[in-house]
Amino acid sequence: MKKKQEYIQVLGSRVHNLKNIDVKIPRNQLVVITGLSGSGKSSLAFDTIYAEGQRRYIETFSAYARQFLGNLERPDVDKIDGLSPVIAIEQKTTNRSPRSTVGTITEIYDFLRLLFARVGTAYSFHTNEKMVQYSDEKIQDLILQNYNNQKINILSPTIKSRKGHYRELFEQIAKQGFVRVRVDGEIIEIQKGMRLDRYKTHDIEIVIDRIKVSETSKKRLAEAIKIAMYHGENVILIVEQETKKARYFSRNLMCPTTGIAYNKPEPNSFSFNSPKGACPKCNGLGTVNEVSIDKIFPDKSLSIQNGGIAPIGEAKNTWIFKQLKTIGQKFNFNLQTPIKDISKNAMDVILYGGKDSFDIESKLMGVTQNYQIEFEGIEKFIKNQYEQSGSSSIKRWAKGFMNENTCSQCNGTRLKKESLFFKINGKNIGELSQMDIIELAKWFKNLQLSKTEQLIGTEILKEIKDRIQFLLDVGLDF
Ligand SMILES: [Zn+2]
Repeated sequence: MKKKQEYIQVLGSRVHNLKNIDVKIPRNQLVVITGLSGSGKSSLAFDTIYAEGQRRYIETFSAYARQFLGNLERPDVDKIDGLSPVIAIEQKTTNRSPRSTVGTITEIYDFLRLLFARVGTAYSFHTNEKMVQYSDEKIQDLILQNYNNQKINILSPTIKSRKGHYRELFEQIAKQGFVRVRVDGEIIEIQKGMRLDRYKTHDIEIVIDRIKVSETSKKRLAEAIKIAMYHGENVILIVEQETKKARYFSRNLMCPTTGIAYNKPEPNSFSFNSPKGACPKCNGLGTVNEVSIDKIFPDKSLSIQNGGIAPIGEAKNTWIFKQLKTIGQKFNFNLQTPIKDISKNAMDVILYGGKDSFDIESKLMGVTQNYQIEFEGIEKFIKNQYEQSGSSSIKRWAKGFMNENTCSQCNGTRLKKESLFFKINGKNIGELSQMDIIELAKWFKNLQLSKTEQLIGTEILKEIKDRIQFLLDVGLDF
C-alpha cells in the first residue's frame, strides 16, 4: 500500500500565465494562496489543481457514464501528486441560499439528464395527457378496435400551421398518385393549379386511403398505415368519414388529442446549454432583462420638460421631444404636465409607440394643420438599444433602465416547456434539481419504478446514488 502523501505536489504548471512553476502544498491544512492581481492565483488553484482533480474524478466513472459527460481536458502541467477528491467553492456566489441544490452540482445533474432521457414519461403540455407512442401493429389493432365497421380516412400530416400557397406541393402530391388532401380540416380533391391563401397559416394532410374497417380489410389497412407513416414522417391521422372526428397515431411520442409531438428525448433535451433543451425565450439563462417602467419614470411628479422620462432627460430641441409634443396635441397634455397626470392611452403611446395622422384646426390662424405621429416608443427603444447595439457602453446605458426578471416561460428552470413535461414519479428534472442533496437522497430512496424502467435505469441510478452518497460523506449537505 502506498503511504499517504503529506503534500500536493505540482510540477511544471503552465496554465494561463503560470511560468512552469513547481509548488508543494501541505495536505490537511488551511492554505491561502496570496499575490498580486493577475499573478496566477486562480490559475493555480482552480485551473490547475481543481481542474486536474475534477478530471481524475470523472475518469473514475464507468466508460458508459463518461460517454455522456465528455472528457475534461488535462491542464498544462507536468505532474500533480497527492490529490484527493476536490471541491471548489467559487469566489463569487450568486446563490442566496447556503444550501447546495442538485442543479448546482453538475455531475449529478448530468446523470439526471440521462435518467430522464431513458425512463422519463412524457406528458402533453396542452392536455397533460400521457404522450403515446405505438408500433404499427399496435396502431392497426387500435384502429380495428375503435373504428370497427366504420368508414375512415387514413392521412399523412404534411403541413402543420404554416403559411404558403402550396401550389407545388399539391402538384407533387398529385404526381405521386394521390387524389385527395385535407386542407384546414376539409377533405377535398386536388384540382389542377390549386393554391391557397399564401398569407394564412394552413394544415395539409394527404389522404392515403379510405377504408371500411373490418377483419377482411386488415391487409389493406396495414398497407395504408405503412404508406401513411412514410409520407407523414412517422405520424398518421385517422378521420372518421361520418363525424369528421380526427385522431393522431404516431411512432413518436405524441399527444393523442392535439397531435403535438416531442422528439425522442436524449440527454441534451434536458440541458439548458444545448439548443435541444434550452428555453427559447431566455436562451437557457433563466432570466430575461426587461424594461422597468419605474426606472423610466423614477419621479412621476416631474414633467417631460423637467426630465420626467429619465432615458431622454430634460427637454431639448430634438426630434424625440417634437414627437412627444405632437402626441400631447392628440392626447391633451403638454411638456409641462406632470407624468402622473398624463392619461393611460397617452402613456401607452409614449412607452410602446404608435402611428397616427390627425388634423388640428388652429383657432388663431383659421387654418387646419396636419400632424404625424410615428413614434417607436421608449420601451422598445431601450430594448432595441440593449439587444442590437454594437456598443457596450450603450448596452450598459440601456441596461440601467431594465430589471433582470425570472423568465416567465420557463419560470427560471432554463429548460424548454416540453423538457419539463417529462416526469419520473410525478417530478420533472427542474423540480429535482431544485432539491438539496438530503431531499434528493430521500426522493431516490422512495423512487418506485416499473420493472422495465428499473432494468433500463439500473446503471444510471447506481451512479447517481454513489454520487449523492459521496457528497453526503464529504459533508456538502449542509
Ligand atoms: Zn426561460
